[in-house]
Amino acid sequence: MIAPAPPRPLVRHELLGTTVHTVALDQALAWIGDRIASKVPGCIVTLNGALLVQTARDEALRQVVNDAALVTADGIGVILASRILGISGIERLAGIDLTVGACAQAASAGHRVYLLGGSPGVAGAAAEVLRQRHPGIQIVGTQHGYFSVEEETALIGDIRRARPDLLLVALGAPRQERWIHRWMRDLGVPVAIGVGGSLDVLAGRVRRAPPWMQRLGLEWLFRATLQPRRWSVVRTIPPLFLLALRERWRRA
Ligand code: UDP
Repeated sequence: MIAPAPPRPLVRHELLGTTVHTVALDQALAWIGDRIASKVPGCIVTLNGALLVQTARDEALRQVVNDAALVTADGIGVILASRILGISGIERLAGIDLTVGACAQAASAGHRVYLLGGSPGVAGAAAEVLRQRHPGIQIVGTQHGYFSVEEETALIGDIRRARPDLLLVALGAPRQERWIHRWMRDLGVPVAIGVGGSLDVLAGRVRRAPPWMQRLGLEWLFRATLQPRRWSVVRTIPPLFLLALRERWRRA
């Protein structure tokens, strides 16, 4: 019998002081499975270019991201910044692909999933889609993302009582990263992931770019065309390249 290949180690890089790991989807899913089995809590940040610009400029936020156990490169901006900085090997792992993969794995492995975030109705609709896609998946709770600070204690209690193995937090970046960082210990959840707009996509409220646009790294263009408010996110990318170029010249 051929022994299974040993898990590939995660390679950690630093982009403008912020951690990013070289990690493919299968590795990330294996990591999630291990954390849930061992109950060693850890959170995942899906880092896009807009968040990277913010972490480069805000030390406290950078610390929040660097405290995450796993940071994936979610977006062409991060990949291009890594190339400018001469770092090879970082590949894109979109938050939506990680979300979809983690839910499929949860269904087959019996992981309990809690969906937090999005407008009222979105998490419930995403749960319904997941139940249709994966009969038997255990969605143990849903909650929209427009809660007040006063409602937070009740929300933490609800999540604790539901005992999820996997908590998907869709509050938008960087709110979701700060929120997970603030509450991770109290939540008692093995794995929490900041998933941005992924619940909107799962729920069918937002369309994903066609595969050819994803392949060309043009998902940002598709999203900005559908949601004009996202142009403000796109505008953060040129400054990201300037920061990366400045860092490269400084090192030369
Ligand atoms: N959202 C939320 N609470 C908030 C702000 C945003 O639940 O206070 C949700 C919003 O409804 C959307 C998601 O967070 O579902 C952010 O989506 P976006 O596509 O902007 O995420 P990104 O991937 O850019 O962070």
